[in-house]
Amino acid sequence: MESINPVTGEPLDEYETHDTDDIDTALSNAETAFDDWSQQSIAHRGTLLQKTAERLDERVEEYAELMTREMGKPIEQARAEVKKCAWVCEYYAETAAEHLQDEVIESDPDARTLVSYEPLGPILAIMPWNFPFWQAFRFIAPNLAAGNVGLLKHASNVPGCALAIEAVLEDAGLPEGVFQTLLISSSEVDPIIEDDRVAGVTLTGSEGAGRAVGRKAGEQLKPSVLELGGSDPFVVLDDAPIEATAERGAFARLQNTGQSCIAAKRFIVHDAVYDEFVDAFVDEVEALTVGDPMDEATDIGPMARPDLREDLDDQIERTLDAGAELLTGGEAVDGEGAYYQPTVLTEVPSDSAAATEETFGPVASVTRVSDEQEAIEVANDTDFGLGASVWTSDLDRGEAFARRFEAGLCFVNELVKSDPRLPFGGVKNSGYGRELSRHGIREFVNAKTIWVQ
Ligand code: NAP
Repeated sequence: MESINPVTGEPLDEYETHDTDDIDTALSNAETAFDDWSQQSIAHRGTLLQKTAERLDERVEEYAELMTREMGKPIEQARAEVKKCAWVCEYYAETAAEHLQDEVIESDPDARTLVSYEPLGPILAIMPWNFPFWQAFRFIAPNLAAGNVGLLKHASNVPGCALAIEAVLEDAGLPEGVFQTLLISSSEVDPIIEDDRVAGVTLTGSEGAGRAVGRKAGEQLKPSVLELGGSDPFVVLDDAPIEATAERGAFARLQNTGQSCIAAKRFIVHDAVYDEFVDAFVDEVEALTVGDPMDEATDIGPMARPDLREDLDDQIERTLDAGAELLTGGEAVDGEGAYYQPTVLTEVPSDSAAATEETFGPVASVTRVSDEQEAIEVANDTDFGLGASVWTSDLDRGEAFARRFEAGLCFVNELVKSDPRLPFGGVKNSGYGRELSRHGIREFVNAKTIWVQ
């Protein structure tokens, strides 16, 4: 397995992949580790997560540089990602006991009845490259706190991150087998899901990968969580403060070089403020600095891989062919590296690629609507249902509007973001299940009814 610097296209490192014997050993290690780990107290497991948080905090620079080198994330955003991983470890170290405490339910007067939340076993996590530390820790912290053990199949272009995650947990003192990285291709996942030693599977990734893994998990009657793609609407109502909204909109679309499941992808703007918003938005987009992601001044780095840039370019071509108008960008940047110009499209036909497919890169599509009713109809006119935001000066109006979104994460006057304290996940083709908060830690547990009489 090779990691390639998306800034230069040059190889960074080569890694030995795991073969079927290695996978078998890892599964046995996981099974053995679970026997002991699941019997430890939540407080003990929390102590080790707290130590992991400390290691992450000490090594922010090292891990941020690793991410930036492997997938091109601007360095400041990479640092923030490492700190957020420390936060989610601390969060579950502090709250797991409360989230998993027995739930006593009054039922029969002659019995004591309660629900006990018990871990299931080794859980396989299949993760994407776009937030290579965060996506993994979002799985690791709640599951290890709950007493499960983890196996990570990370995206093939971030093997260095995958091994660094395993190493930091080991350094923090986690017993052998509690968390293991498997350097394998996606074609080797099915037999692992089928293996009796694996109790469940979670995947964060594209809709296609989600369908494949969900199908296999269903066939095996194993629980699964699927965090898939999105095409989040960003609705600007006629009373929104335009300059500030345009500035937040540009960040919502272009952070992580537009490669975020919860990026704002479809801007739906009320006719009364449409021209003003589009002018301000294009100004914001054009003011961003495209460059070397190691450079502190860079806002937008390269895309993670050349093939992803080709896919995005093809979507833009098809959207323009369908009749959309190009306001800025629209082409790959000449020279080395997988750079793409930040792009704004308007008059995007509702059946075109940018309206119906997930655009996973620096391209925004803007649509004009005449009123609130049309705005919510366009916002919900998608197969995806991950995040959504609405921008207005009237908080009651915003909240009422947010309740009408068909999405899992609905924000008023803030860009869609994840937070350890709040559940994260989607509806429709964005997947099912929830990560983070009390909801996330209860995904891979046995909610066991106990009746004592
Ligand atoms: P991807 O191609 O689906 O890959 C994600 C992971 O799934 C990788 O580890 C990949 O392995 C593996 N995989 C792919 N096909 C598989 C299959 N048939 N069976 C088993 N595993 C398979 O997605 P990506 O390009 O890395 O990430 C971008 C996508 O992830 C976007 O759609 C984005 O919206 C979504 N995403 C969703 C969330 C969320 O929380 N909802 C968060 C981040 C990203 P290989 O690398 O070896 O192919």
